[in-house]
Amino acid sequence: HKTARNILITGGAGFIGSHVVRLFCEKYPDYRIYNLDKLTYAGNLENLKDVSGKCPNYRFIKGDICDLEHMRRIFAEHKIDGVIHLAAESHVDRSIKDPFAFAQTNVLGTLSLLQAAKEAWDGAMGGKLFYHVSTDEVYGSLRDPGTFFVETTPYDPQSPYSASKASSDHFVRAFGNTYGLPVVISNCSNNYGPNQFPEKLIPLFINNIRHNKPLPVYGTGENVRDWLYVVDHARAIDTIFHSGRVGETYNIGGFNEWRNIDLIRVMIATADRLLGRPAGTSEKLITYVADRAGHDKRYAIDSAKLHEELGWEPSLQFEEGIEKTIRWYLDNQEWLDNITSGAYERYYEEMYGDK
Ligand code: NAD
Repeated sequence: HKTARNILITGGAGFIGSHVVRLFCEKYPDYRIYNLDKLTYAGNLENLKDVSGKCPNYRFIKGDICDLEHMRRIFAEHKIDGVIHLAAESHVDRSIKDPFAFAQTNVLGTLSLLQAAKEAWDGAMGGKLFYHVSTDEVYGSLRDPGTFFVETTPYDPQSPYSASKASSDHFVRAFGNTYGLPVVISNCSNNYGPNQFPEKLIPLFINNIRHNKPLPVYGTGENVRDWLYVVDHARAIDTIFHSGRVGETYNIGGFNEWRNIDLIRVMIATADRLLGRPAGTSEKLITYVADRAGHDKRYAIDSAKLHEELGWEPSLQFEEGIEKTIRWYLDNQEWLDNITSGAYERYYEEMYGDK
């Protein structure tokens, strides 16, 4: 927001958060950027090693958004006047196994952050902004071809993950309506790019192609997702944070729909080429597994409002973005190896070991 200078970014050690932190630190050297992260399995300070040594305006704070006292101290001590809230449990499959962790962080954690902002800003809301980063999964699944989620689409979450995000969106709006907290929300489609934890489809498959491991495709691979390059999401967050209208919601997406199986074929073709393997070598790794419970059939988002009102559009075509992404994972084997050992290996075995 125009006057916010002391910005709290939550979840900045995660996938999208780390790209937002990097963009803000580099683009706004006169802001003070506080990255608050609990460092769960998904938080990784390695994602920010280029920023933490280089940007004097950056500071990391380890903490849990559910800890209201700690949130209050952070707002007071650092005179926080802008929040970009990304901290969350983010993986649908994990939410099916442990929904409580999702209600805890995504709902109650968001509530503590809202409460801390409300108390700190009480009576002097001008120029402040609480920006909540959310997902298009809150809208549920599209049934009719050619239709898109718009900002007014009714909420219809299907998984514990999307139910927890939907609930957090409602609390954010409620704090805007009830207490006058200056809030803004964006709902974005699936992201891909460097630094994504390899439980998610794209890095998981790149890693498995590299190691000649099976590629577990849910159901028949017909589910459709809209994919956006993570840096374009970070650019959209920057645009909305600085120019979005208070109280509004903005959908973010790439108008880039892919059936899972087609996306996987593009990844295989690109990865085989980059690995110097004959075309199609890794096709044999495709393994169909039982569909995810409650698997939404199709998500597609209409980001016309963001484009028309604020001029944002994606900078990368998908083919370019996916090649860049695959190259990054192949060039950063150490990053992948560090997190695919130990606890993650056990989780992976549990999820896919018997399939
Ligand atoms: P991620 O799992 O990679 O990162 C989440 C970060 O939050 C991690 O660094 C983790 O340590 C931190 N965190 C978790 N619980 C915390 C707590 N209680 N207190 C403090 N920090 C905590 O997730 P991501 O993919 O980067 O997603 C970031 C946000 O964007 C989420 O709110 C997610 O719902 C939303 N989103 C993600 C996508 C996507 O495709 N990944 C799309 C749209 C919206």
